[in-house]
Amino acid sequence: MANPFDINRPLRVAVIGSGPSGIYAAEALIKQSEIPVSVDVFDRLPTPFGLVRYGVAPDHQTIKSVTKVMQKVLQDPRVRFLGHVAYGRDLSQADLRRFYDAVIYAVGASSDRHLDIPGEELPGNLSATEFVAWYNGHPDYQNLPLRLDVKGVAVVGMGNVAVDVTRILAKSASELAQTDIADHALAVLAESQVTDIYMLGRRGPAQAKFTTKELRELGELANADIVVRPEELELDAQSAAWLEGQPALLRNLEVLREFAAKPLAGKPRRIHLRFLVSPVEILGQGRVERIRLEKNRLDEKMNAVGTRVFEELEVGLVLRSVGYKGVPLPEVPFDERKGIIPNREGRVLREGQVSPGEYTAGWIKRGPSGVIGTNKADAAETVRLLLEDAPHLPQAPEPQPEALTEHLKRKGVAFVTLEHWLRLDQLECARGQAQGRPRVKVTRLEEMLAEAKA
Ligand code: NAP
Repeated sequence: MANPFDINRPLRVAVIGSGPSGIYAAEALIKQSEIPVSVDVFDRLPTPFGLVRYGVAPDHQTIKSVTKVMQKVLQDPRVRFLGHVAYGRDLSQADLRRFYDAVIYAVGASSDRHLDIPGEELPGNLSATEFVAWYNGHPDYQNLPLRLDVKGVAVVGMGNVAVDVTRILAKSASELAQTDIADHALAVLAESQVTDIYMLGRRGPAQAKFTTKELRELGELANADIVVRPEELELDAQSAAWLEGQPALLRNLEVLREFAAKPLAGKPRRIHLRFLVSPVEILGQGRVERIRLEKNRLDEKMNAVGTRVFEELEVGLVLRSVGYKGVPLPEVPFDERKGIIPNREGRVLREGQVSPGEYTAGWIKRGPSGVIGTNKADAAETVRLLLEDAPHLPQAPEPQPEALTEHLKRKGVAFVTLEHWLRLDQLECARGQAQGRPRVKVTRLEEMLAEAKA
């Protein structure tokens, strides 16, 4: 079939963000053959793969193997990776219009939600987002003010991120040393004094968001016992009725009951899974020392309601893990309440109207939910609409791929290419191999750039 766009040249698409949704969008663009495409995938960091590199836990290497497929997409001759180029700093909305026929914003959700309770300003209260980025070697989070010379840690939230950070805190240094955890994090975790980690769920076990596989893994740790109070597993009538026909959630409950029945083995650390409690205040003189919890019940809509019964836990660190949150991009519309770019199935909306040539995919399109693979279908939906629109899109005045790179060079933007990234990747893997680890990450931005371009 003839190219309905313009027979003389491929459709030029910019993808902002090289995490799963950005790369899956690029993949969907090159997988079809009706419209020839030329895709530039940008990332503000010199490294691709977004949350696969900086979010997935270092002890979950099998999940990270998805990068092999992602790398193949970046190696396709129709795709260019342009790292260390930040939209808003190095690339403007006018640049996108000048060099591309269409743009897909796939920047994920880099911030997090707050608890909005007194004491959140105290040192020792951090977000799981920051902690995860720190232990995964994200260059922006190397100097996180994190002290593990504390006995108790509260992890607020009952999702898979809460499970990840709890597991990393519970594991021994020798277990972590086999992973690609950042060296600076390994050094701090090796000196950890933590004995008790409290995962705090504001609702009941039936409403917990973690998946059974991840939950089960918590009960199999060599270094930590798991403590569950049987009385907190008792279900109210609504939760019990709701659970019927929800096999995944029923499995969670079964595992939790097994945990509750299991005698403690006297391991060095304990993971306490607490349900129906909400943090109401973080307390301490100059740093976090305690967290005050209110016991909850569930209302008819299964929302948590306080009961005015309080307790306090001695903790020196609070990690809130209550969801990621999108951050607005300059000159791109943003829905503050939802933390997403307003869109209709991936077509960006400006003042309620579809904005020609602007698309979005992934967490910044739908919010921070789902696993890596969820982004594949999500990105495919966006790309399907983009291709449908292609014949009618305003055409870029300077569509030649070199026009963009020349522009960046003129502006002094030291962009990183795929070859550069592959060099850094090889170096990290070689350093890892020497230590029996999957890789040793380079975490300082200057060093990343120097090694990539060595
Ligand atoms: P999540 O699954 O949405 O969990 C957020 C948790 O925070 C929920 O338990 C929620 O409770 C709680 N919460 C929200 N606001 C709260 C508040 N004000 N006070 C107390 N608790 C509050 O989010 P996530 O853990 O950040 O994970 C994001 C996505 O990544 C999920 O889809 C997750 O499955 C995925 N992920 C997957 C893996 C994996 O596959 N191994 C690993 C990490 C992340 P309510 O239910 O009461 O709102």
